[in-house]
Amino acid sequence: MQWPQVKGTLLLSPHNDQQEEKALVHAARLLREGNLVAFPTETVYGLGASALNPVAVAGIFKAKGRPADNPLIVHIAGIEQAYALAREIPPEASLLARYFWPGPLTMVLPKRQIVPDITTAGLSSVALRVPSHPLALKLIRAADMPIAAPSANISGSPSPTTAAHVLADLAGRIAAVLDGGPCSVGLESTVISLLSSPPALLRPGWVTQEMVERVLKRHILDLSNLGSSEGSQEPPPSPGMKYRHYAPKAPLFLVEGEGEPQRRQLLALTEGLAMQGRKLGLLLSEESKNYFSAPVKEILGSRNDPATVARRLFYALRRMDYQKVEVIVAEGFEEKELGKAVMNRLRKAAATIIRPDGKGGFSWIRG
Ligand code: AMP
Ligand code: MG
Repeated sequence: MQWPQVKGTLLLSPHNDQQEEKALVHAARLLREGNLVAFPTETVYGLGASALNPVAVAGIFKAKGRPADNPLIVHIAGIEQAYALAREIPPEASLLARYFWPGPLTMVLPKRQIVPDITTAGLSSVALRVPSHPLALKLIRAADMPIAAPSANISGSPSPTTAAHVLADLAGRIAAVLDGGPCSVGLESTVISLLSSPPALLRPGWVTQEMVERVLKRHILDLSNLGSSEGSQEPPPSPGMKYRHYAPKAPLFLVEGEGEPQRRQLLALTEGLAMQGRKLGLLLSEESKNYFSAPVKEILGSRNDPATVARRLFYALRRMDYQKVEVIVAEGFEEKELGKAVMNRLRKAAATIIRPDGKGGFSWIRG
């Protein structure tokens, strides 16, 4: 089977079961030989390499331009594989695995020696996840090994939710991308550390803090905002937290709050920027879309439907780049349940956050 190539990167884009089988066999062989293969998961596309091969893992850091102190998530096909990688799987981890695996939940556990230092950025713990995307599971099984896979983008740019996004960032730098269509969740996995008691939320995602607490029948710590500013003195519990992320090329202003005050603030800002003559892009809710005009508008979804907002967010941020907007204004969403993950990503993408000051005004904060 001849697959198309983009700058030497194979696009494995199967259209029937037979092609899928061939694509999986080929992708698995590339991984076993130490190459980099991007593949779909339900969250975002991952850039995979053999997690136990330090040379292959080094290739991930190089291709993405990822800082060496930001550890990778190791993807496995089932909890059986976790015992070979984690020194200890506490009962709460087994319980969470039973509820949320396969799915968008990553668990940080004490690592075994077999996991190379480069994969965990020198930490004594390892982050594990069983993805639910059928192609991801089939690929891990076909390769017959754990696969380290961060998001398949250049470090700092919005995470990829289609194979085309992967190619836009990494064509010519990786061996292949397996195309499984657009991702259904659209935001990276929730990360929970089981190193502490109670466990700690390190990154919000589709599996919310409330969902985890209901299963564990106790509160967990929310550390997802700790040490989040670059250059912060506190060491973050999860190294990836200190980096700015997901940023489109143009500076993004995020207007938080709700109702009339938020709308008035959005209006003042968009009118001011339009007067400066800079090409403006807007990220808005369904409810706000008719209040504002700009050369580029992306509607993320209803304020009552954070799942849709989450799924479209990275795609919309990338559209801002493709449309070459010069400045972006984004509407902030309610920070509740899945809305927490949406706001976490928007804040990391923002150059400036405009937030209600509690006294009827707004304060401007550097993102
Ligand atoms: P990404 O692969 O880009 O989705 O990022 C993975 C996230 O998981 C980053 O925020 C990492 O800091 C975090 N992570 C991975 N391994 C560990 C670990 N052993 N301890 C704490 N956080 C981790
Ligand atoms: Mg990433």
